[in-house]
Order: sequence, then structure tokens, then C-alpha cells
Amino acid sequence: MITTTHRPDLIGLPPDRARGELLAHFRRRGVAPYRVGQTLARIYDKVALSVDEITELPIAERRALLDAFSFTSPKLARVQVSTDRTAKHLWRMADGELIESVLIPGTDRLTLCISSQAGCAMACTFCATGWSGYRRNLTAGEIVAQYRGARRWAEAEGYGPITNIVYMGLGEPLMNLGPVINSLTVLNAAYGVGARRITVSTVGIVPGIDALAERPEQFKLAVSLHAPDHELRQRLVPVEKKYPIPALLESLRRFEAAGGRRITFEYVMIDDVNDDLELADGLAAIAREFHAHVNLIPFNPVPGTGWSASPPGRLRQFADRLESRGANATVRSPRGQDIAAACGQLAAEHELKPPKPFVQLVNRRV
Ligand code: SF4
Repeated sequence: MITTTHRPDLIGLPPDRARGELLAHFRRRGVAPYRVGQTLARIYDKVALSVDEITELPIAERRALLDAFSFTSPKLARVQVSTDRTAKHLWRMADGELIESVLIPGTDRLTLCISSQAGCAMACTFCATGWSGYRRNLTAGEIVAQYRGARRWAEAEGYGPITNIVYMGLGEPLMNLGPVINSLTVLNAAYGVGARRITVSTVGIVPGIDALAERPEQFKLAVSLHAPDHELRQRLVPVEKKYPIPALLESLRRFEAAGGRRITFEYVMIDDVNDDLELADGLAAIAREFHAHVNLIPFNPVPGTGWSASPPGRLRQFADRLESRGANATVRSPRGQDIAAACGQLAAEHELKPPKPFVQLVNRRV
């Protein structure tokens, strides 16, 4: 059970609001306004993980801050580092809830994959997070706190600065719209992560895509398609029943019309399930319309599915077929598989139960 507090959270408030709230707070206490800038510089620039790290403030003012504001700072419950240096952090929230974030080092970038919900209600058949069920939405502060904690860890461990953020961890970001939008604002405006370096990943929640299109910042959108036709997609991504492909594509047209926005399509490749070459033709037609890149993700085995990744030869053929139909495609190399940090493997220690659609799909195939 999450404990609610009416104290505004200095970590999750958009910076304009944080500035206004702090100004009013210090004014009430007869403290000079320059303390606002000092406090925010510690939080944003120095990534202070506790009020006690705001050492410019007298101790009495730090205590008063804690009385007036909350300061979300999850505990690092565990860190696992893969042989490929991918690092998975398990964070314990104030109510005991566990969530994960993953740092993925690349040649010229350091990408942080963050969670937006504890668990997920979308029940995608190939995803361990979906199997673990939905527990609750994260607050904006809890989303931003993953970045702050991971950034401090990365600096201490010599990983360098976090250059990119993807909302691809636990949860469907657009089912937690208000806190996710606030967290995007904070990460962009307060921590200086460029909007074009932040990608929101969705299974296709149409009202959420429309809301994102209304934002002035050009955040990127990754759409988890996984099948180009309704019949197959609804078995892999149950939300297809609510927002079928034609409605999804309409919302993507509105998103694109909002100007300067990049769309990518994610396609998890499962052997003998969605890797028929003819499916590449439908996928290419969709990708071409949006000048969108397609990321082909080899399925990361989740215990108990009996499914396996498409073999490398099939992945290559599928990518070639997409290219021959005028769509750009990349085969993603799996990262952090040995620590269960790869796409679809995050479950934050929760028991996994195959969802009904999976059982139906498997039964259909035998
Ligand atoms: S793939 Fe994403 S939306 Fe689907 S169950 Fe997993 S976390 Fe949720």
C-alpha cells in the first residue's frame, strides 16, 4: 500500500513549480530567496540524494525542508553487472515496492532504461514484466529518482554521463500519463537531457500518443508493434483489441503532423511465431509511411514459455526483406541477458505466471 503525502516532492516537481514552492517556503520562514537557487543547484546539478547533501543550507533549514517537502530517494537494493557491462539496479521504494532500471553502455553513448510502473497491466505474451502483473503507478519523483540514482552510480563506477533515456523498463508509460509527462519535463528541463535523446516506448495507447503529440518538446516515440496485422498482434499484444492497428496508425499520423518527431518500431522476433518473411512486407509498408526505423529484437527467453528467439539467419533474412521493401532495419544485439536485464526480462523479483493469452497462443500452435 502506497503511503500518500501532501507534501510536494522536490524530485518530481517540474522545475518551475519547484522554484515557486521553494520561494514561498523560504519566504514564509524569512529566509533569503537566493537559497532557492542553492537548493535547486544541489538537487539538479550535483544530484544530491538526500537533503543532508544540501550542505549550503543550515541544518535547521534542511530539517524545515523535510517538514515541508518530500524528497524521493529509493534505496539501491541490489546491483548486477553483466559481462557486457550492462548494469541492472533494483530500487526499493518507500512503501517497499521494487522496480528496476538498466544502464546500457554503447560505443558513443550511455543509455538508461527506466520503469514507469511497478509491474504492467498490458500482459504482452512474450514479456516477463507482463507476467508479473500490475501493482501500481510510479510517481514522477520515483521515475526521476531512477535517473538520479543511476547517474550517481555511473559517475562513481566510471561509466561516464548518461546520454540517452528510454522508457522501456517495467510498465506502459502512457498508462501512467501525468507522472510520466512530469518526469519528462524534469529530466529535460532540470537535468538537461535533450528531448530527442529521450524515447517513450508504448504498445500503442492512442490517448497517450495524442497527449505526447501536444507537448512542445520533441520526445521520441518507440512503438512496440511485434506484428503488422490485427489477428496475430492481438495474440502478442492484447491491447491491440482496444486500439487496433488502424487507430494506432491514425494517432501516429497526428503525432508526426505535430512536427519534427521521430518514430521507431520495435519488433520482437520469436521463432516460428511472428518471423514469417511475408510479415516483413506488411511491417515495411507501415514503417515506410512514417520514415521510421525498425528495431528487430531477438526474443529474450523467459522461463516457461518454450519459445525461442528467431535464429540469426532468419533475423538477417527478415531485415533484408524489410530493406528490400524500402524500410530501414537494425537487428539489436541482446544486452545483459546473463543478468536478466534484456528487453522483456525485467520482473523485479516477482513471481511469473503465464497470462491467459500466452496459454491460448501456445495451445493454438500445438
Ligand atoms: S512489453 Fe511493455 S507493455 Fe507489454 S507487458 Fe511488457 S512492460 Fe508491459
